[in-house]
Amino acid sequence: MRFAFDQDAESFRDELRDFISAELPPIDERDNEFEGLEDEYNYTMGFQKKLSERNWLAMAWPKEYGGAGASHMRQLVFNEEMAYAAAPVGNMGIAWVGPSLMLYGTEEQKTKFIPRIVQADDWWCTLYSEPGAGSDLAALQTRAVKDGDDYIINGQKIWTSGGHLADWGWLAARTDPDAPKHKGITMFMFDMKSPGVTIRPLINIADRHGFNEVFFEDVRVPASQVVGEVNRGWYHMAVALDFERSGIQSFAGGRRTVERLVQLARKHPALVGARETIRHELAERALEVNVGTFLAYRVATMQAKGLVPNHEASASKLFGSEMSQRIALTGMHLLGMAGQLRDDSRHQVIDQATGYLSAVSATVAAGTSEIQRGIIATRGLGLPRG
Ligand SMILES: Cc1cc2nc3c(=O)[nH]c(=O)nc-3n(C[C@H](O)[C@H](O)[C@H](O)COP(=O)(O)OP(=O)(O)OC[C@H]3O[C@@H](n4cnc5c(N)ncnc54)[C@H](O)[C@@H]3O)c2cc1C
Repeated sequence: MRFAFDQDAESFRDELRDFISAELPPIDERDNEFEGLEDEYNYTMGFQKKLSERNWLAMAWPKEYGGAGASHMRQLVFNEEMAYAAAPVGNMGIAWVGPSLMLYGTEEQKTKFIPRIVQADDWWCTLYSEPGAGSDLAALQTRAVKDGDDYIINGQKIWTSGGHLADWGWLAARTDPDAPKHKGITMFMFDMKSPGVTIRPLINIADRHGFNEVFFEDVRVPASQVVGEVNRGWYHMAVALDFERSGIQSFAGGRRTVERLVQLARKHPALVGARETIRHELAERALEVNVGTFLAYRVATMQAKGLVPNHEASASKLFGSEMSQRIALTGMHLLGMAGQLRDDSRHQVIDQATGYLSAVSATVAAGTSEIQRGIIATRGLGLPRG
């Protein structure tokens, strides 16, 4: 059997590679430090606007909403190439705000928000998690109470990625505290600059500012910014549009990191000499990247055939996130003591420490490994619930 993409996918891949090399500096020359929020905002949204100009940003969306109605395989190739290049493509507006509006939004909401999302005019953040609600998201307590034409929001969200950069927030809040917990939640869109919103940075283990705590004190949100039915938010959150969800990003990013580590080992033979087993470790990681890539291709192929991946997508997420931690650890093994040096040291060979520390969160973000194992056990293997 020969595993290969068709000619259309391969020429699209070439086109993407040309675009990336024209628009982004080579990865080794990229400065990962931004000179403030504006710099980070402009870098990310500037790149996304260029994608939008080619109709690639929302390529998975239906044409009637400004997308390109791209096939799953084309989406897969796009996601793979962008992740390999570590391109700034993450966009929650594209991933779930727009798709939710397509399914549940009013005509007014669609007209106002969808074109801006397609053109990368706004940065969106997602406010689901709370200190007491993560895996058990339906336990969320942030309250929204109707007051005339508005809702008044009070409460606290946590781990809000990009909240400090966002123009708009995508919020789940409790509108009926007396209903069973899955049945009293409503989805809102709100302006992040609204009076009463306080954003406090959470600096992560790698000393980076990616996520935040967000506090709401009597924040007024117009009722016209409720998305879908009041109290049906839980069901609207699980947006069931048929977009690519193979998890290829972890494997493409992992491939790039393993290749960089191999180059480093070739350039500095003393590193390898100091630790004989490193060759085997690097070989293991390279194999894992290939195994994972095929797990992701399997999910995308299922989708291309009209099947709905479920535990297969969990297996890809689980393997990809744990693999990224193993790759980061192998990098630390290769570099030895030098792996601990941060950007401020002139003795630093590459910045491995940031990648190593950042990888810790991979098995928590977007559903923890335990939750993925639960899905694989019950839905994949048919085991009874614990
Ligand atoms: C990098 C990063 C970015 C994030 N960005 C966002 C964001 O933008 N917006 C947002 O709303 N949230 C965001 N989150 C939050 C993320 O969704 C939660 O961290 C995640 O859902 C886990 O919830 P928790 O942290 O409350 O942990 P908990 O759910 O409290 O879990 C604690 C531990 O208990 C285990 N556990 C929990 N329930 C079960 C179970 N049923 N079976 C077995 N084990 C279980 C977990 O696996 C974990 O080990 C982000 C998190 C990270 C790490």
